[in-house]
Amino acid sequence: MKMLHTRLLTPGPTPIPDRVRLAMAEPMIHHRKPDFMAVMEETQGMLRRLFGTEQVVLPLSCSGTGAMTAAVHCLFEKGEKVLVAEAGKFGERWAQIASVRGLEVTTLSAPWGRAIAPDRVTAALDADPSIRGVLIQLSETSTGVQHPVREIAEITRNRDVMLVADGISSVGIAPTPMDEWGVDCLLTGSQKGLMVPPGLALLALSERAWKRAEKVAPSCFYFNLLRERDAVRSKNQTLFTSPVSLIIGLREALRMIFEEGLSSLYARQRAMTAMARAGISAMGLELFAPEHYTLGLTSVKMPDGLPSSAVTRKAAELGVIMSTGQAPMKDETLRLAHMGWVDWGDILAGLHALQWAVESLSGKKCPAGALDAAMNAWHDSMRSEQ
Ligand SMILES: *Cc1c(COP(=O)(O)O)cnc(C)c1O
Repeated sequence: MKMLHTRLLTPGPTPIPDRVRLAMAEPMIHHRKPDFMAVMEETQGMLRRLFGTEQVVLPLSCSGTGAMTAAVHCLFEKGEKVLVAEAGKFGERWAQIASVRGLEVTTLSAPWGRAIAPDRVTAALDADPSIRGVLIQLSETSTGVQHPVREIAEITRNRDVMLVADGISSVGIAPTPMDEWGVDCLLTGSQKGLMVPPGLALLALSERAWKRAEKVAPSCFYFNLLRERDAVRSKNQTLFTSPVSLIIGLREALRMIFEEGLSSLYARQRAMTAMARAGISAMGLELFAPEHYTLGLTSVKMPDGLPSSAVTRKAAELGVIMSTGQAPMKDETLRLAHMGWVDWGDILAGLHALQWAVESLSGKKCPAGALDAAMNAWHDSMRSEQ
């Protein structure tokens, strides 16, 4: 056996804390019996605090894309128009899901690595008042960019336009208070900021989104959010068999999150982001998202002739698992994620593995001092939070 600690610095799945793994190893309980209903009730209270909502947060048995699909089916009628913010792989996914649902899609695109400017959303909605929804990512995980969802909510909340935000790489990583901002649908998956294995999604609707959903004819038997809401509200259950172990794992992860406190968690995420960015710049590599960058992951532009697939393969020899970019930028960027159950020590290992892999493959030394620069940025960021 190789005595090497594997560090999963990928944008999902992320490492699972021992407490969550042990909670999930308990004997099975039945999803229609009181023990499970108590788990659901406790989990529901913590989820509402995390999402910043007074509405119900629905657990769905699917990956994050399932929740994106459920949102599109339950909020819009076939033939309605939506505006899709498209500046990466996951924005493209919104457009695909909406097209399959039979919606008319207008895309508002920006080059990969850039964010969508709020005034462009205003202009697009002014140009076509029949648009009924804006579909966007809080964090576009394929590029490491954060879209200005808070500002966009100020535009949509005063119009008959639903703001649907994919928070799969944001919830539990950066603040996402949906009621305060006026987001109509916030959704996420279990395997990123929430420190739970893949397979569970979570979705919440605003009060006005529920009113809209009540008028939309069901178009999908499995994803019926109105019936899911009834099951949670009236019985602390889910409509079909619950992903029992994942929900038990989620309860434990949420307990950990609230023991740490949301403000400390976000402070830690900001410090790790500052650390990664400082280290990468100091080793002479270029950050892919120069501004409007997200927390939770940092994307790096690869030097010419150095494909990220080779770099990630080399870094894996040190037990550090990072991600390449996503098509069509697969080999041009590398993504170092720092979301969920990771700390400064993991990021230090990640930065060293990145530098070592780049030096080994290129045969050239990077400028010295990257790890010191990274640690200084981490300390500065933590100090500024106090
Ligand atoms: C990971 C991710 C997805 C895809 O989620 P799956 O769980 O793989 O379906 C969608 N959107 C964003 C922003 C993501 O980070």
